[in-house]
Formats: sequence, structure tokens, C-alpha cells
Amino acid sequence: MATVMNNLSTQLLVIGGGATGLGIAWDASLRGIKTVLVEKGDLGEGTSGRYHGLLHSGGRYVISDPHSASDCASENEILRKIAPSTIEDTGGYFVSTPADPLEFPDSWLHGCEQTGVAADEIPLAQLRKREPLLNPRISRAFSVNDGALDSFALTHLLANGIQRSGGKLLLRHAVTGLEIRHNHIQTIQLINLRTQEMLMMSADFVINAAGPWAGDIAWLAKTQIPITLSKGSMLAMASRFTQTVINRCKPPGDGDILVPIGTVSVLGTTDLPVQRPDHLQIFPWELDLLLSEADILVPGIRQHRPLRAWAGVRPLYSSQHDDQEGDRAIKRSHIVLDHRDRDGIDNFVSVFGGKLTTYRLMAEAAVDLAANRLGQYTACATRTTPIPAPDSPIGFLGSERLRSFSDRASSAQDMVICECELVSAKQLRQALFSDEQPTLDDLRRDFRLGMGPCQAAYCGFRSAGIAAKGSRADPQFLGDFTQERWKGIQPLVWGSSLRQIELMRRINFELLHLSEADQ
Ligand SMILES: Cc1cc2nc3c(=O)[nH]c(=O)nc-3n(C[C@H](O)[C@H](O)[C@H](O)COP(=O)(O)OP(=O)(O)OC[C@H]3O[C@@H](n4cnc5c(N)ncnc54)[C@H](O)[C@@H]3O)c2cc1C
Repeated sequence: MATVMNNLSTQLLVIGGGATGLGIAWDASLRGIKTVLVEKGDLGEGTSGRYHGLLHSGGRYVISDPHSASDCASENEILRKIAPSTIEDTGGYFVSTPADPLEFPDSWLHGCEQTGVAADEIPLAQLRKREPLLNPRISRAFSVNDGALDSFALTHLLANGIQRSGGKLLLRHAVTGLEIRHNHIQTIQLINLRTQEMLMMSADFVINAAGPWAGDIAWLAKTQIPITLSKGSMLAMASRFTQTVINRCKPPGDGDILVPIGTVSVLGTTDLPVQRPDHLQIFPWELDLLLSEADILVPGIRQHRPLRAWAGVRPLYSSQHDDQEGDRAIKRSHIVLDHRDRDGIDNFVSVFGGKLTTYRLMAEAAVDLAANRLGQYTACATRTTPIPAPDSPIGFLGSERLRSFSDRASSAQDMVICECELVSAKQLRQALFSDEQPTLDDLRRDFRLGMGPCQAAYCGFRSAGIAAKGSRADPQFLGDFTQERWKGIQPLVWGSSLRQIELMRRINFELLHLSEADQ
């Protein structure tokens, strides 16, 4: 039987540990507001860890959603200053291929001027020199300020900032009930998903930053938010085909962008209505569509090895919905709903939608509202305050990662466990036997374990071996991780991916004699 504790109280409770919730908790903690953040999984386990990886220039939305375009352009500049270690400054191009409408670039350029999105037409010779693999029939090209943004690095950075400024994070805790009395959330019911212990807490103000689950949280407060859920699938190719983010210069559509991230290229996305945030099934036709569209940008790309696929779900505020135009017509700007004005609950706000690129702006708007209601009038400081790095930062990007690995390796006679992503035995041991008791999938988000070309074929077993030598000899430990990895590989069982899968199968069944049940 679960124990009930009643010992937690705070000024501000934030529900959701994605970029938005973490951004809110960082903003509030910096303003001196006593803050607790509750996340049912791990940091960034929701949409923030399942996105495309683009630091938007704003170019994609200049015509369809000018507000979002301007927000992206200004937040892009801010993020480069406050979290530079999470960004790879790839730059971006919008290019006109023979498949794109000829008249679009001129109206698009006009949209850029109107929204403050920096865009310059460049000579085609310059484009070809920088990106020789692009379609030689591209007729126009424009440079923009796109980049690659590592959301795992960002969520870890924010978590560190929150804790340093006195905020508290409760991971693996789910909010299961909100008790409202006299138009006020009086008590919040939580469950610790590790121990099944129940907790009751009180908060002066509650912010719902549960992304695509925001409607579920609102429902706990006996109110409804009209949210349409839209799933997007993405496909990582095992090689980096371009150095720059490449966008098709056309109205937003499926498969209109290629983002180079580290050693891979990510193609995306699709847009399909789903009923629930965890309906993440990827259909082979989606991947075929992404490859066909990418082949227009980089001819021949579909002959190369796809690495893995994943999907994320967007919460779109459907009161803005025009049914005739479909989900892409719903504005992708963020929404801040004050439930006092809307539903008569005076200490409750929901914030969702937008882009990861605009998480800081969303957080600022939500905390402004909460701070006002709490009578705490300190101004927002996140626009100019660099998010502090942990004491021993993990290099997430290219040469920085290599440098930090070689520093650790030479000083500690360390051993490499994940060659693709340079994760060492010492790092793993420290994390595995810490109080957090992370799963291997948590370590994937922490260190990128198993995310490289071998897709955990080797490092999964080595990590499980380290765990088994200590106190973590749970047979499910490796099984859960390989199951999770398999979900992203399973839709790609053809060509060179099939060879890699066959190698993994032989390691599992013939070398290690694992049964299918173990898997
Ligand atoms: C396919 C796709 C591609 C995208 N690509 C880009 C891109 O390239 N660039 C960009 O800028 N943006 C992109 N976005 C948008 C971006 O991913 C989102 O705007 C952002 O991640 C939203 O973060 P969030 O914190 O609001 O939500 P989430 O990251 O989903 O966080 C919500 C959290 O709430 C937690 N939660 C839910 N219920 C409970 C509960 N009961 N108790 C406790 N916790 C709970 C969940 O576990 C989750 O971690 C993309 C989105 C999608 C779907």
C-alpha cells in the first residue's frame, strides 16, 4: 500500500520537464521564486527529446505564421548568447529546386523583410562550392541563420541552472490529481513512479507545461483545452551530406528540410493527426516520402544507409483551426492560457505549442503572469543571463566532445565504452551507481550512449556488463534499452540497415545466446 506524505510546499509548481517547463523553472528560480518542477519521465523525454534539432532562423514561417517567424528570429540570437555550447552554427540555405513553385522565392523574401528574418540571396557558385552534393538544378539560394540545437544538452544545462539557483527537480514523478477549492488549486497529488509512493503537495501557483499532455493536466483541473495532436516523423541518415541546414523554398510541407547534426543528416518531417501523445508509430510510407523529398535536394541520398527513425507529437491549439486546410494550417505560435480568465481557477496557467527555439520566450510570458499573481515583481533575467554549465560539462558537439573525452581518458586511464559517441567507462560507472539509478535510456539522453552508427550494437552490452558488476544486475535493464532502440530501427529494415540489424541479431542470439524473451 502506498504511503501518503504531505510535506512538500512551494510557491510555484511547474508540470513538465521538457524545454518549456525547464525554461520556466530556470526563469522563476532566477527571479527568486521558490520553484519545484515535476516530470513523469526523464529530462526531455517528451517532445523536446523527439524533435528535428533545428535552431529556427524563422524562415520557414515568414508567410504561414509571421509571428512565429519573428519570435524565432529574435530568440535564435538570444540562444546563441545564453547557451552557445548547445548550438552548432551550421547556417542555413533556402533553395529553389525544379519541384518548387517558381514565384515563391520573391514573396518569401518579402515575408523575411516584413518579419525581421535575416535572408540574403547568394550566387549559385557559392552554394555549389559549400554544398557540392546538392541538386545541380537548384535555381536560387538564400542564406539564413539556421543552426543545429542539441535539446539534450539544453535540457541538462537548464536543469543545472535551476538546481544552482535553488529550484528543485522531481524526475519520475507524475501529477495524478489537482484538487480545486474556492477557485484555487489547493492540493496537487503526485506519484513517485520508482517507489509507487504517493505525495500530496501544495503550491501558490501551478504552471502546466506538459506539451502534448497539457490537455490531460487541464482535465485534472476539470477544464478542457481544445488541442489537436499532430505527429511528425523524422529519419536520421548515417552520413552528413551537407554542412548547412537545407530548406526547400516553398510553402511548408512534408519533408521540406535536411538538418546536419554531428555526423548524421536528419530528414523531416511528416504531419499526421493522432489521438494520444504516445501514438508514435512510424509508417514505412512516411519514410519513403521523406527519402523521396530529400532526393530532390540531394540526388541519390535514398541509396544511403538510414540510421534510425523517431517521431514526436505537436500540441496544436485547435480553436485556431481551419478544418479545410488541415493541421499544417493551424498556427504554430505558442499559447499561454490563463485559467483565471477562462475557467475561474485563479492560480493556474497552461503554456504549450511554439517551437523549442522559442522555449525561453514562452517561459518568460508564463512566469511574468505567475510572478504578477504571486506579487513578486522581479523582472525576467533569462534574456541576458548565460545558463551555467555543470562543473564537468559533457562536450556535446564535435571537436569539443573529442577534447573533453581525451582529457578524461588521459587523466583517469579510462576505457571507451561507446566508440560512436565517445562515452567512457568512468562516466557510465559514476552515473549508473548514483542516487538517480538511471536506466540505459536515461544515459542515452545524458551522454548520447548508443546514438551513433552502431545503434548500441556493442555499447549496450558493455554498459549492461558494467551495471551487472555493480549493484544493478536487473535482467530487464538491457532488454528495455534494446527494445527502445529497436523501435527506431524496425521501420528501416532494408538495404545497409538490414546488414547492421543482422549483425546485432547474431551478437544477441548466437554469441550471447539471448532468447527473444530477453530482448
Ligand atoms: C516532429 C517535431 C519536430 C520538431 N522540430 C522542431 C525543430 O526542429 N526546432 C524547434 O525549435 N522546434 C521543433 N519542434 C517543436 C518542439 O519540439 C517543441 O516546441 C518543444 O519540444 C516543446 O517542449 P515542451 O517542454 O513544451 O513539451 P515536452 O518536451 O513534450 O515536455 C512536456 C513534458 O511533460 C511531461 N508530463 C506529461 N504529463 C505529465 C504528468 N502528468 N506529470 C508530470 N510530467 C508530465 C512529459 O513527460 C514531458 O516530458 C518539433 C516538434 C515536433 C513534434
